[in-house]
Amino acid sequence: MKTRSVEKIVPALETPEGDGMLVHRAFPARGFTEFDPFLLLDEMGPMEVPPGSHKGFPDHPHRGFETVTYMLAGKFEHRDSRGHAGQLGPGDVQWMTAGSGLMHSEMPEREFLRQGGKLHGFQLWVNLPKRDKMMDPRYQEVPAAKIPEGRSADGNVSVKVIAGEALGAKAVIDTRIPIQFLHFKLAPGASVTHQIPKDENAFVYFVEGSGTVSGTAVKRKEVAILKRDGDSVEIRAAADSAVEALVVAGKPLDEPVARWGPFVMNTKDEICQAVEDFQSGKMGVIQR
Ligand code: FE
Repeated sequence: MKTRSVEKIVPALETPEGDGMLVHRAFPARGFTEFDPFLLLDEMGPMEVPPGSHKGFPDHPHRGFETVTYMLAGKFEHRDSRGHAGQLGPGDVQWMTAGSGLMHSEMPEREFLRQGGKLHGFQLWVNLPKRDKMMDPRYQEVPAAKIPEGRSADGNVSVKVIAGEALGAKAVIDTRIPIQFLHFKLAPGASVTHQIPKDENAFVYFVEGSGTVSGTAVKRKEVAILKRDGDSVEIRAAADSAVEALVVAGKPLDEPVARWGPFVMNTKDEICQAVEDFQSGKMGVIQR
């Protein structure tokens, strides 16, 4: 096994998004617009939501890709134009395949809004291959207790396996192309070596703490983009710092990307069609 080296370190930038939300956007950013097959990574918060505020992501459409929401703190409520509704609490994952398109809203849950509290989570956008862009929308909603968890023999490293496989645990979520989405927790001074096939693009995002990725120093809210020069990554926590890190990897699609706001297709014509379908109401309305 050869360790993949770090190509560059990119800091996540504070970006206002939706209605009053503050996100730290790892990408798209200048010079780092996409990372085939991934289109976006946002860290929501962590932020203190005051009681009675109205932060969130009101009604908007999606077509042509998948949105993955992973909550760490707080509670969100989700509602879409196909009558689907649900709640997401700490540790819960929603893997939504937008496919041909829908309208949805992602807002803090009513009781959480009334009381206020800490809000923290992630949203990852995964591109769909051309053959799946117009598939029927589907949801995979997995509560925290059902997310498989792996652990190292000495107990110093644990991992929540949202997609892929690590430390003996295998994901329950099904992906359209090979994807890994792992949330590692390392005790101070601990390290883990994780296998990533040579043909997958991969990055590591530090949620908490500081340490190294394949020998390169990384700290909180930084992305370490990995080169495709090996088949594993080594994450090490500094001696005085516990680390939480996301490892995200996927096989690139190598297909043209035409992107406009919430629509990600292969050609400009398909984007025009998406806008037309949205404006003529073909993506539906949210019934309340
Ligand atoms: Fe959305």
